[in-house]
Amino acid sequence: MSSPDSSARLASLRMRAHQPQPGELAGRVVAITGASGGIGRAVALAAASHGAQVLLVGRTVRKLEAVYDEILAAGGAAQIAPLNLETAGAPEYRQLADAIADAYGRLDGLLHNAALLGTLTPIEQYDVPSFCKVLHVNLTAAFVLTQTLLPLLRASPDASLVFTSSSVGRRGRAYWGAYAVSKFGIEGLAQTLAEETAHLGTLRVNVINPGAARTPMRRAAFPAEELSASAAPEELANAYLWLLGPAGHGVHGLSLDAQAPPD
Ligand code: NDP
Repeated sequence: MSSPDSSARLASLRMRAHQPQPGELAGRVVAITGASGGIGRAVALAAASHGAQVLLVGRTVRKLEAVYDEILAAGGAAQIAPLNLETAGAPEYRQLADAIADAYGRLDGLLHNAALLGTLTPIEQYDVPSFCKVLHVNLTAAFVLTQTLLPLLRASPDASLVFTSSSVGRRGRAYWGAYAVSKFGIEGLAQTLAEETAHLGTLRVNVINPGAARTPMRRAAFPAEELSASAAPEELANAYLWLLGPAGHGVHGLSLDAQAPPD
């Protein structure tokens, strides 16, 4: 029998090799948090260009509108769903769920992608309110959004729930503080939910670590790094389409790598 680690390695290889077919996500309704920029924007554009109806979830409406315009100009379909994960309360989550229920009656994919880096500081000096804010946006909000949208995911015949981790969410690293802790939490949340939902057979729950990607977050974390040292978000999009679309059918409870981990 294969171990979870070897299953994840094999699935990651398949994911990284994926070349989506035209229209591969046709008919699927996919929500992406943090769709205003970075990896979220690239995945939103790729999902829409492969036929998905994309819900652009995020806090900065002006940026979401720019992504929306790009998708429509390319002939795709999208909707904007403003949601600030730092401040949203039950009514805002309910409103999003009701809007999806009214428009589609189900959700076929949910990518938890939005995150805050916080500060790179030793635990001993980490500012407590900043710690709580990063944990809230990166972890608690993903839990609440998952719980709120679970009935809609369960209404899909083939739903894919994808959480976003990081290498520092699998092995702690000095100074990565709340961000690293939040990503460990994401791994735990996904593992727990994956076990709880395994019997359904219609909902896949997995984690993706995109690896180093050329985004505002990467630049904030590594200001002196050569830009070309990390992948463009667009280069990673096919891996996400594998998970969010029909190609990743049957893959459940795994923590995957969109890029080969460094030796
Ligand atoms: P970016 O910083 O480029 O984008 C983050 C996104 O999250 C933005 O759309 C941002 O919105 C959104 N966001 C932040 N706070 C909130 C909030 N309160 N409510 C709603 N949305 C919010 O990050 P990346 O694209 O680099 O990262 C995407 C994911 O990949 C993250 O989960 C990150 O941890 C993970 N990751 C990234 C790596 C990398 O090298 N880039 C490496 C490993 C993991 P706004 O535009 O309004 O600020």
